[in-house]
Amino acid sequence: MKRKILCLIASLSLFCVALYLSGCQKQEQRKVNLVVTVEFDDTQGFFNAEQKSVLERAFITDENGLKNFILKNSNRKKTVDSTFVETVKLSGSVAMFMPKYEYSFIAGEYQEVNPDGYDNRLFSDTGEVDLNGKPSVERFFKEQELLSAIVEKLNAKKLGFLETDEIENLTVVFSKLNVGLNQTDIFWPHQAKAYYGDREGLSSVYYLGGNETALKDVKLGDKSINSYIFIPYAFIFNGEKLLTTTLCHEYMHALGAPDLYRNGAKEFVGEFDIMGGTETDVPNLSLSYVRYKLGWISELSHVQPISKSGEYVLYPTENYGGTLAYKITLPEFAQKGESFYIEYRKLGEGSRANTQTEGVIVYRVNEDNGYLNSKGETGSSWRGNAYFEEVSVFTFWRELLNGGIEEREQITSMGTCYATIFDKAGYTSYGSAVEGEKVNAITYSDGTNSKITVEYLGSTTNGGIKVKIGLPEIKFATKINEGIVAKNGNRHVLTFDSDHYGKTAYVLYSEKRILNPKAEKLAKPKVNGNNVIKLRTEFLQTTLPKFDGFEKFVYVFYGDENGFTTVKEYKIAGIKNLNATAVIVIAIGVGVVLPTGTLYIIKRISKRRNKNEKQ
Ligand SMILES: [Zn+2]
Repeated sequence: MKRKILCLIASLSLFCVALYLSGCQKQEQRKVNLVVTVEFDDTQGFFNAEQKSVLERAFITDENGLKNFILKNSNRKKTVDSTFVETVKLSGSVAMFMPKYEYSFIAGEYQEVNPDGYDNRLFSDTGEVDLNGKPSVERFFKEQELLSAIVEKLNAKKLGFLETDEIENLTVVFSKLNVGLNQTDIFWPHQAKAYYGDREGLSSVYYLGGNETALKDVKLGDKSINSYIFIPYAFIFNGEKLLTTTLCHEYMHALGAPDLYRNGAKEFVGEFDIMGGTETDVPNLSLSYVRYKLGWISELSHVQPISKSGEYVLYPTENYGGTLAYKITLPEFAQKGESFYIEYRKLGEGSRANTQTEGVIVYRVNEDNGYLNSKGETGSSWRGNAYFEEVSVFTFWRELLNGGIEEREQITSMGTCYATIFDKAGYTSYGSAVEGEKVNAITYSDGTNSKITVEYLGSTTNGGIKVKIGLPEIKFATKINEGIVAKNGNRHVLTFDSDHYGKTAYVLYSEKRILNPKAEKLAKPKVNGNNVIKLRTEFLQTTLPKFDGFEKFVYVFYGDENGFTTVKEYKIAGIKNLNATAVIVIAIGVGVVLPTGTLYIIKRISKRRNKNEKQ
């Protein structure tokens, strides 16, 4: 294995049908990360006071432990509340949950190495052993069986807090295993969701053979397990030192972050995000873009859109406040769906010091690709990174001995990184304003030069740095019309009207319809108890808050020093721009398109409401 990147499997979440409805909770529940240690017959007595104190450090107290990492990465928005329960002892051997076969390339066939194990061979749809086929479903069932056995033991313990608390995640830490692991093994660290689904879903990925496919829901008390992590103790403590990077990486999956690595191919993110590489001893913070998508840092406070060339100040990613990234969305975004981020990564202190290179990084993201898998769930666990966000950090090109040039393959490698723009001679600026230039240019994925340029100018007295950013002249070749379209995962994207580019967009998201909406009234910070969101039209688009299944009315208008535009009204759960002459049908998140007669329905609903109010 070339690189230590974890969680290859995690394929289970694709099939997760355990939808959690959050709309009707009575009180604020504590979200718990339940940590359970597991021993087998042949590893009994492994977890004693020493191991428990190591786990306490890894999950709670260590500065690079799970709790402090997530707190830092989330800009103090998210706390992981880990609760330990007594060790679960499973009867039987570890071997039951290890693969049965090893493929011998010399013999050209599978050889049985573990008679007690599960079938890990690959099969064609017709049941022939086939190295290009699908894995036997046995491994999948073995994992569910293991999870089920653990949960059964937990339920027998009658954990009192289960009645009131929500299980955000179940982390299972396995004792020493006395076996080596491959990335496809059950015990290889990974995050997944408990599955109880149908034959059809399974057969798209696994060879089922004659296996029974009915699985019952694995529940803790009466609660479904929406996320669990399997991790052997050896991935947390290697006998000498505490390792928390893998644990943090897996927990980021539980919180919705996709992988940002490509196994075996050129790496575009590497150590600049814990989801891109786990090769470092301490967990690295995520890119501002990832933190922004997860709702941990916000537009305007931390991620600033820019549309004009000039000198700008940036603060390091670990700063709590200030501008942590500039985002550039050019008119080409309408066709290409790609935007650019500029961010300052500073060398950390203490143990963090050797893990990154200091300087400004520029990266391109394709927002359409990421954060949603084909089932509309956030995150990306299916096959590791099949639905990964396309995020690419630009790297410097270098001259080859034969006079040619090539882009450097690896973005970071413990201090030999030239992806950063800083004070090193030859690396103080990046990007080219010359049409058609590709070398050291900030390009779209199709190779077109964006003509954005970035130059390092120096540090400021308060921990920031100054950069000079050059942008091309912004011209819309074709007008972009305002509209809302449904995306998977109960999310909707609002596209701004390009005629109002540069103005502030006001968006009000309301459960109740507002009659005769007027911009002057709606521009107040709160209307009918709802926050009015001010957005920068330079982003060209924004993702609306998650649609929770109830109808929502959305009001959109623009403003600048000359006043406001008229308000446009949308209804989500199927509808259209009520004030526009053309009917825009909006599909709801699950993909159902409602008939266009909904204007009538809205009228009827509001009439009935008025009548009720009088009674
Ligand atoms: Zn991962």
